[in-house]
Amino acid sequence: MIALPLHVMPLIYAAVFLAAVMALWLLYDRRRERRRREMWQGLSQCRLCAEWLRHGVDTKLFRCPSCGALNEKNHYNDI
Ligand SMILES: [Zn+2]
Repeated sequence: MIALPLHVMPLIYAAVFLAAVMALWLLYDRRRERRRREMWQGLSQCRLCAEWLRHGVDTKLFRCPSCGALNEKNHYNDI
């Protein structure tokens, strides 16, 4: 058995509690960020009429349904 002074035990309890809270915080933050990235994936803005449209992830060119303009998937109109 490990003999600890009495004043050290609350510190160990607080350290373990804070470590658990930090681990849960990091876990939920990673999950929330992954879900946000999945939600915004494939969403682009038409370069002609600025309408938001959803397209396939591996689609290079896509046509805007409202104005008919052909848009290219790139970093500028993708989120
Ligand atoms: Zn358009």
